[in-house]
Amino acid sequence: MIRIKDLTISYFSKSGFGLKKNRIAAVDEINLEIKKNEILGLVGESGCGKSTLGRGLVKLLQPESGEIYFEDQEITSLSSSDFFPFRKNIQIIFQDPYSSLNPRMTISEILMEGLEIHENLSKEESESKVKEILERVNLSTEILSRFPHEFSGGQRQRIAIARALILKPKFVICDESVSALDVSTGTQVLKLLVELKNDFGLSYLFISHDLGVVKSISDRIAVMYLGKIVELGKTKDIISSPAHPYTKALFQSSFDVYDRKKIRTPLQGEIPSIVNKPTGCHFHTRCPIVQDICKSKTPSWKNIKTDQNVLCHFPLEFEK
Ligand code: ADP
Ligand code: MG
Repeated sequence: MIRIKDLTISYFSKSGFGLKKNRIAAVDEINLEIKKNEILGLVGESGCGKSTLGRGLVKLLQPESGEIYFEDQEITSLSSSDFFPFRKNIQIIFQDPYSSLNPRMTISEILMEGLEIHENLSKEESESKVKEILERVNLSTEILSRFPHEFSGGQRQRIAIARALILKPKFVICDESVSALDVSTGTQVLKLLVELKNDFGLSYLFISHDLGVVKSISDRIAVMYLGKIVELGKTKDIISSPAHPYTKALFQSSFDVYDRKKIRTPLQGEIPSIVNKPTGCHFHTRCPIVQDICKSKTPSWKNIKTDQNVLCHFPLEFEK
């Protein structure tokens, strides 16, 4: 569905005396594939570049280098008019349903907007599509004349989901889509997202800092650290036998509100600045098994087993 090749997305910020220009490679030469009907979870601490990658995939950010293929069509080089037919197939659902819905538009206008831009439908056809999608996300058509502020966070997120899915996309990026909701509302919205994924045959990139959520729904998990994917594998392998010391530390440090298991071994040390990433392996300043080579030499990808790969000089051993 989606193939990302050597993708780099940078920000440039000015700081300090004389306003020196800093380059922040928030997405740093990433290679990744998201398969048809797959949920790929993307995890990592705050600031590691997850949202930047998500925004790059919908062309809200222009990459510095690299390519993104949607069903074998390279999309980064397309002009906005050439990208237009792809736009409806690639949707994003953000974290904050308060700011992502225009407060001055009615729910009807919000849902109709995409149809008006992308589809040439009669009024009746549009209305029937709106009705159909509202039913699908368990909202009543009575809400159509109302405004976003009249709804709770969970309802707003359902409206945001309806807005994304009304165009029948093929690929959806969920960027912290349940993170702002309380646990029980979040669980319901998550369940809905999975149902819709199965019904519509969608593929998701599911971005979250919440490992409990990610592991409950993802087929595979990609672990990100300072702009790089450092481990990628099937969910069960990533959880039961992580090969990267960062993956292991990340999962051990997480508090899982969803299965109420409290495993807390805090990750050691502070996250280094993404502006001045550590040399060699970026994780070496916090790694419990660091060796000299890790400080100077950039690791290369190692295959651990089918579908599990890691960017580490000394992958952790585990039962094969
Ligand atoms: P995540 O979603 O994993 O928390 P982001 O992709 O939002 O991470 O951010 C990655 C890095 O890029 C962070 O260090 C952040 O400070 C920086 N960043 C994000 N947006 C901008 C921006 N508009 N300008 C400059 N730096 C930014
Ligand atoms: Mg983010």
